Amino acid sequence: MAFTLEERQHLGIHGLLPPSFLTQDLQAFRVRENYKRQHTDLDRYVFLTALQDRNEKLFYRVLQDDLEQFMPIVYTPTVGLACQKYGHIFRRPRGLFISIHDRGHIAEMLHSWPEPDIKAVVVTDGERILGLGDLGCYGMGIPVGKLALYTACAGIKPEHCLPVTIDVGTDNEELLNDPLYIGLSHKRERSELYDELIDEFMEAITAKYRMSCLVQFEDFANHNAFRLLAKYRNRYCTFNDDIQGTASVATAGLLSSLRLTGKKMQDNKFLFVGAGEAALGIAGLIVSAMQDEGLSKEEACERIWLMDKDGLVCKGRAQGKVDGPKTPYAHEHEYLPSVEACVRELKPSAIIGVAGAGRLFTEPVVKMMAELNDRPIIFALSNPTSRAECTAEQAYVWTDGRAIFASGSPFRPVTLPDGRTFTPGQGNNAYIFPGVALAVIACRVRHIPDGVFLSAAKALAAQVSEDDLAAGRLYPPLKDILKVSTKLATHVAEYVYRHGLAAFYPEPEDKEAFVKAQQYSTKYSTFLPDVYSWPKHAQEIS
Ligand code: NAP
Ligand code: MN
Repeated sequence: MAFTLEERQHLGIHGLLPPSFLTQDLQAFRVRENYKRQHTDLDRYVFLTALQDRNEKLFYRVLQDDLEQFMPIVYTPTVGLACQKYGHIFRRPRGLFISIHDRGHIAEMLHSWPEPDIKAVVVTDGERILGLGDLGCYGMGIPVGKLALYTACAGIKPEHCLPVTIDVGTDNEELLNDPLYIGLSHKRERSELYDELIDEFMEAITAKYRMSCLVQFEDFANHNAFRLLAKYRNRYCTFNDDIQGTASVATAGLLSSLRLTGKKMQDNKFLFVGAGEAALGIAGLIVSAMQDEGLSKEEACERIWLMDKDGLVCKGRAQGKVDGPKTPYAHEHEYLPSVEACVRELKPSAIIGVAGAGRLFTEPVVKMMAELNDRPIIFALSNPTSRAECTAEQAYVWTDGRAIFASGSPFRPVTLPDGRTFTPGQGNNAYIFPGVALAVIACRVRHIPDGVFLSAAKALAAQVSEDDLAAGRLYPPLKDILKVSTKLATHVAEYVYRHGLAAFYPEPEDKEAFVKAQQYSTKYSTFLPDVYSWPKHAQEIS
């Protein structure tokens, strides 16, 4: 109903619309009115998805008007629930589904996609959706949601974005028995055919959309995530958000925490509960940050301890082999089985929960952290909310308000009995990946070294105000995220040109203006043809 009279006539839809005209403001108002009538978060997710299908500009307009309210619906935690029920709430498909049986034909399949100019792909194989495990083809909710944030948080044009799910089957019995399951009803293909399929996918994407097309890997299981990242990171323009995006946002939070503790990064001792993609990504980046401060790599690693399913990761332990990327953090120490024992013995200044295994930061653990530290750093990063290591309330109550807290999923502000109120910061990857993607796409970066994520972390931490810190927030307010991402993209753009990583030439002088010029507008564009006239004599028939 925002079409003008002329547009209605030109488009041949005059009479099909009621005879009044609405502004986008009024349409947005109507959407919010109807949104309020939805009863559950899942209803809200379905409602917003329907809007995205029907009127994309209005969808992004509504999202951008109040990201703090809508982000938990289109992204964690509700997107997790939506993925679990994806076949049950399914209405229209969105994204490209590539199955193991399409091997040899991916290049042709890409022709099915209606948009010609793809600059960013988010791809999952659904094996480790959030902290929820193998959701197979139901994982499509994740690339769809992530790309919605590309646009909502950084203004990347939706027509440049392609969500992809690679379906090689699922080992989730519940889904295999679910009559409404939308994917292949067999176990995961784990042979070399899997690798061939992903190789072919990377080749087909870059052959069609150029080498500068960004491919973000999302929610792949640990054993594939590290392998594929190592294989592709210097060959393609790619990153893994669970490893590198997480690393960047957590490091930004830690950089902010230094302003509260008055310490340097190297003055801390970190205990990670969880030793997977998130933990090893974060650990690697804080090692870089400590190297920046002048430590050697070995000295930096000494300040980091890991716990996995089997307990403390230490040299020569009998419980579970320690290998691969965990090795640099396996120190000489007696084996310790529990989080409590690790905190008691190792006396960390920061505990970082990334196990996806629920409430591991118990009352004794958190209270011990408060005894050991004036300002204990407690990050409960596992998603969704049900998997968080502790709640914000627990962190503040058990430390008498001294905790420096951040979580992966959002928590409401907490008021202590003495009246002090804390607004916990959300270590949301959405502070990082949309802004990084915007810069990478705009500058035509060919591959993305870790330095890009450290520069992004610094650019994010630099935008945390004294007021934010005073309120307990280690991150800028979510409502400002479009501005924050734009600034972050500007910094990253400067970084990639400084380090010879950009292939867009000539190098734009004003990086901020350059980045802004690429951004999406939620304003309706006109549907009228550009009509103009020539001088009369030039139109005469001779
Ligand atoms: P992952 O690669 O599967 O790693 C999970 C790790 O946790 C593994 O090292 C595993 O041990 C360990 N673990 C499992 N149960 C444990 C327990 N009871 N005690 C100690 N360690 C345990 O998964 P991920 O990608 O790192 O993600 C983990 C969690 O972090 C998820 O919930 C995810 O949603 C969350 N996350 C949050 C953010 C954010 O807040 N911004 C970003 C990314 C991920 P083994 O090595 O022995 O198997
Ligand atoms: Mn993820």
